[in-house]
Formats: sequence, C-alpha cells, structure tokens
Amino acid sequence: MNDSPLRPTVARIDLDALGFNFRSIQNFLGEGVKLMAVVKADAYGHGAVQCSKRLEAEGVHWLGVSSIDEGIELRNAGLRAPLLCFGGFAPGQAAEIVRHDITPVVFDLARVEELNTLALEFGRTVKVHVKIDTGMGRVGVPFRDTVVWADQLQGLKGLNVEGLMTHFAAADDPTDDLTNAQMRRFAEAVSIFHEKGFRPSIIHMANSPGTIAFKDSRSSLVRIGGLLYGLGDDVIPKGSACPKLKPVMTVLTRIAFIKRVTEGDSIGYGRTFMARRDSLIATLPIGYHDGLRRALSNKADVIVKGRLAPIVGRISMDWTTIDITDIAGVKCDDEVTIIGKAGQAKVTAETLARACDTISYEITCGIGTRVPRVFV
Ligand SMILES: *Cc1c(COP(=O)(O)O)cnc(C)c1O
Repeated sequence: MNDSPLRPTVARIDLDALGFNFRSIQNFLGEGVKLMAVVKADAYGHGAVQCSKRLEAEGVHWLGVSSIDEGIELRNAGLRAPLLCFGGFAPGQAAEIVRHDITPVVFDLARVEELNTLALEFGRTVKVHVKIDTGMGRVGVPFRDTVVWADQLQGLKGLNVEGLMTHFAAADDPTDDLTNAQMRRFAEAVSIFHEKGFRPSIIHMANSPGTIAFKDSRSSLVRIGGLLYGLGDDVIPKGSACPKLKPVMTVLTRIAFIKRVTEGDSIGYGRTFMARRDSLIATLPIGYHDGLRRALSNKADVIVKGRLAPIVGRISMDWTTIDITDIAGVKCDDEVTIIGKAGQAKVTAETLARACDTISYEITCGIGTRVPRVFV
C-alpha cells in the first residue's frame, strides 16, 4: 500500500511468512485436502489484496471473504481464484454477485429466488454453497429444515449447488461434544441433499481450530484464516499437533519524545500511573485508534533496545507512554516494537490479547486504518 510511509507507526507484513505458513499448512494437511484462504476483514488486518495475491501465487484453491464489497475489491485488484462470500448477499445485490463471479453462501429463500430469477434471465446457472446451521446459531439453514430446503432448491433451475458447508461453534475446545454433534448433523444434511439428487462437489466444515483439533472435520476443503497469519496460539487447543507457523504482522513505531518526571508526578488521563521514583518516560505516536487497545493501559509491555518496557498510564487515542528508566541510552526516534520480536524480547498478538481478555484475531483486525501496511 505504502512503501515509504510518512508516519513512524507501521504494520510490517511479511509476505514470505504468509507463503511459508500456507505451504506448512498444506503439507500438514497432505494430499486430498484443499485450502480456502480466509481473507475477510482485510485479511485479519494484514491487507487482503496483497495477501491474496501472494496466496494465489502459492497456488491457493479458494479465497473466502465475508461481504460482497470485500469480494469486489479482490476482483478489481485482479484476483482470479474462486471466491466464496460467507455473508451471502443483501437484497438487490444478486447482479453484483454474478458480475464479479463471486460464489455466495446461501441460507435465505428470498435471496436464492432472487439469484435464480437473474440466472434464468441470463440463461445460465449460478453456483452457490448452501450453509447448514448445525449448532453455531448465527446464519444457515437450520439442520432440521434441510429436507424442506432441498425440496425448494430443486425447483430453482438457475442454481447449481456446488457446495454444502457448516461452521463450528466450539472447535477450540476438544472436550466440548458439540463439534461431534455438528459433524453428525452435517453428515445427515449432506445425505439428504444426495437423496434429493444434488451432487455438491465441495463439502466443507473446518476453520483453523477444527482443522487442528478434529481431523475428521477436514473433508476435502478447509477454511483457514488465523493459522495463515501465524495466529491462533490462543484458539488452538494446547498439545495438538500443529504445523509450524510464523507470525506475519509486526507493528513498529518510534519514540516521539522523552522526558524526566519526578517521583509523585502522574502520567496521562485519569492519573492512573503515579511515578514512584524519578523516571524517564517516553511517548510513542500510537494510540487506541491505531489498535493499541485502551484496555492494555498499565498492563502490557513494548520492546525498546531488545528489552521490555512497560506501558504506563492510559493509552490515549494517539499517544502511549512507556517507562524507560531502566533501559540505558534510549534516544528520540529509536525504534519500538509493539508486536513482534527484538533481541531476546517478544510481544505477540496473543500476549496482548490475553492481557485485555480477547483473542489474537481481534488484535490484528483492530490495527487501525491509519497504520500503513508495509509489505516485505
Ligand atoms: C472466519 C471464518 C473462518 C476462518 O476461521 P479461522 O479460525 O480464522 O480459521 C472459516 N469459516 C467461516 C464461515 C468464517 O466466517
């Protein structure tokens, strides 16, 4: 996007690490299991166009997005891989689906009728993947309604049911029996479709945790987001066999200002930090708008000169303050690592996620649009 950003705060995206992760996961899966790269939400904050281009060059079989505008962005950027849109499409958008060769996930009768009418007008068939809700409870044809749905789809000659899918609610917990129940319900839905004469060629269930923790869920295609970006330490069950992965995103900034404060001085909004000694405080040009969550105030570290320095005081919209009293020789404009490794020190998206009670996905997705992505 931006090769020489004016702002010192950047997210460096290591496309070689992305390629490495793709090959590593593909090797782990072995022959016969294809990989859909989930690049929704701007590739979990990593930059959907650049990441998709690299993944296409690596031979990815499918790309997955959540909304139609995400799909159009990729098509406009020249991406040619089959593109599945998990969110389906909104009323009136069927023409956009067809025009941009996006395969919609469908679960709403009015939408499939709209698409069917359009397909018949064009004298062609349009591929769809039917989503069965087997226990996630968000979108999807309720699994108990599969028969009714299959009957209704039989009348829609403009549609080609290329795929059947479901999505797991609790695959990160191998002790939760819901995943096995979801697989059984889905297998039943697939056989109902077969009995009704459908021959969907692609059957898919697994996300990253499902792929790792429930081998039987892999079928012929898995939908992988987190693992591709080297994330998931916090959503993959401990002790599961896992492909080797590298983090793709590093977030860096530079020290904007250094000052001495006196014992008893407070730092930042709300005076949540009081200096207990004369201290050296550095201010960083990164704040919660950039994705350094306010909940991390006084709770996380950054890396300066290969050493951890604590965030002190409230993280504000544009600025963050750190205590560098114990680190010798720090100067203005020195590089600071917010997410990444430097020297012996490491801060991962998972570390930050744990400190503010979320998952690593939300941390990388949350890196703001003001932070230029620099692709290396
Ligand atoms: C986001 C998403 C995925 C990817 O999940 P990860 O845990 O990131 O692998 C897969 N399938 C659907 C339907 C999704 O919405």
